[in-house]
Amino acid sequence: MSEPRHILVSGGAGYIGSHMVLALLEAGERPIVVDDLSTGFRSAVPAGVPLFEGSSGDAALIGGLIARYQIEAIIHFAASIVVPDSVLHPLAYYANNTVNARALIACAVEHGVPHIVFSSTAAVYGEPDRVPIDEQQPTAPINPYGRSKLMVEWILEDTAKAHPISYAALRYFNVAGADPQGRAGQSARNATHLIKIAVQAALGKRAGMDVFGTDYPTPDGSCIRDYVHVADLAQAHLDALRYLRGGKPSLACNIGYQQGFSVLEVIDTVKRVSGVDFEVRLRERRAGDPASLVASNQRAISRLGWTPRYNDLETIVRHALDWERRLPSAID
Ligand code: UDP
Repeated sequence: MSEPRHILVSGGAGYIGSHMVLALLEAGERPIVVDDLSTGFRSAVPAGVPLFEGSSGDAALIGGLIARYQIEAIIHFAASIVVPDSVLHPLAYYANNTVNARALIACAVEHGVPHIVFSSTAAVYGEPDRVPIDEQQPTAPINPYGRSKLMVEWILEDTAKAHPISYAALRYFNVAGADPQGRAGQSARNATHLIKIAVQAALGKRAGMDVFGTDYPTPDGSCIRDYVHVADLAQAHLDALRYLRGGKPSLACNIGYQQGFSVLEVIDTVKRVSGVDFEVRLRERRAGDPASLVASNQRAISRLGWTPRYNDLETIVRHALDWERRLPSAID
C-alpha cells in the first residue's frame, strides 16, 4: 500500500526544523524527518512524525524515502551553522553544507521531486554595500559558512534550468525566539547565538557573557543584525511551498524584518525583559562577522505573501526566555 504524499524535512530535529514540522502539521501537511542527530534531538520531533536517523547526503536512504513517501517537496535545513566554526573547519562545512546538499538535490532530480525549499543565509552577502540588503545586491560571502551555502544556491539555480524542479532559497537573517505555545525552542549543547547566550546569562546558566567587538562602524560600535522570530520563519517556508506549488519561478528571497538591533541593544532588551542585570564583558571582534546585516523583506512580502506576526524584539526575547526556563538541565 503506498503512502500519501509527504514533505521531507532534513534537519527536522534541529532548532528551525522542529518549528517547521509543527507548522507543517498545523497546515495539514504530512512531514517526515531525516536528521543525523549530531546537533538535533529525537525529542524535538513530535510523536507520530516518522524520524529517520541519517545524513541528507545518503542517496540510498533519501532515494528510498522519496519513493516510499511519495515526497512532493524537500525542505532542507540539515547543515552546520556556526560562522567562527566554519573559519576553523572549512572542509567540514563544505562537506556537510555543500557536498551533502548536492547529493540531496541529485536524489530529488533522479526521483522526480518537484520542489525544494533551501535554508540559505544572509551570510551570502558578506559585507553589504548598503542596508537594508535586497536580493539584487551582489553575493560576496566573507566566511566559509556563507560560501558553503551560496554554492548550494548556485547548484539549485543551474539544476532548475536543466531539470523539472523549482526551488526557493530563503536567506535567513538572525533566527531567534521559540514556539509561542512553548512546544519547541532552541536546544543546543554548545550555544553560540547571541539571544540564546544572553537568555542563558539572564537565567544564571552561564556566568555573564561577552560582546565580540565594540569598534565596528555602527552607532554603538557593536554589530547590527536583523532578528527574525522562528515561528515567522517557519511560516515563510509554508508560503514558499505554496508559491512553488502554484508553478511560480524559482527564487532567492530574504527573510528578516527590515529592522536592525545592535548586540548591545539586544543585551539591554534581555536584561529588561528578564529583570536580571548580568555581567557583560566587552571583547575583541570575532572572526568572520560583518558589521551590519539588515534585510529588505519586500520580496518575501510581495512574492511569497509572507505576513510576519512576531516582529518585536521583546516578544522574541520573551519566548526565548520561556523556552530556556523549561529546558531540562542536561540540554543547555
Ligand atoms: N555575539 C556576541 N556575543 C555572543 C554571541 C554573539 O557579541 O556571545 C555577536 C556576534 O559577534 C555577532 C552577533 O552577536 O555580531 C550575532 O551573532 P550570532 O552568532 O548570534 O549570529 P550570526 O550573525 O553570526 O549568524
